[in-house]
Amino acid sequence: MGRKCFISFKTEDSAYKDFIQNNLDIDMIDKSLNEAIDSDNEDYIMSKIRKEYLSDSTVTIHLIGKYSAENRGKEEQRYIKRELQASLYHGKGDTRSGILGVVLPEMESTIYRGSFICPKCSYSHNYVGINDTTVIKEFSANYYIQNSMNTKCSWSEEDRYCVLVKWDDFLNHPEGYIEYAIEKRSSEIANKIKVYP
Ligand SMILES: [Zn+2]
Repeated sequence: MGRKCFISFKTEDSAYKDFIQNNLDIDMIDKSLNEAIDSDNEDYIMSKIRKEYLSDSTVTIHLIGKYSAENRGKEEQRYIKRELQASLYHGKGDTRSGILGVVLPEMESTIYRGSFICPKCSYSHNYVGINDTTVIKEFSANYYIQNSMNTKCSWSEEDRYCVLVKWDDFLNHPEGYIEYAIEKRSSEIANKIKVYP
């Protein structure tokens, strides 16, 4: 039984969205937010996006391509930011969704940069470039969830809400990654989500 997915993507990456839609056995909501919701009430906006766009999806697949960076500007990224905020939002009668970030092939070498020796703890960590030059803050802040002292130099899987996967790995095992992102909804780290980072 498939899970219902919402796909959050930039128009430039719509070929990847179409590929998922046409080739994977995934129950998908074929909508994306492309108009502003006229209200000053943030709870109303979130609830409206959840109802009209995300519908009864339990996971948001967020495609990370060359046009997904926070640095491209809040105005340029307003729709994907709203889509992720509404996915992360946990309100009355609404349940948050899991977030699965899929790194598109053209971004793989920018994001997965190998390992380095950490100047703080002198152990080796993998360098995963999830920051304002690659993704919006709604993703990065919930991928690298900071502890209260902001002293962390490395993150384990339990320290992340967002799940990250390379495009090819996702295609090889889509259900597994989707389930993993969905499980995060009821994990301890879900209490540390930042909806508006
Ligand atoms: Zn370290």
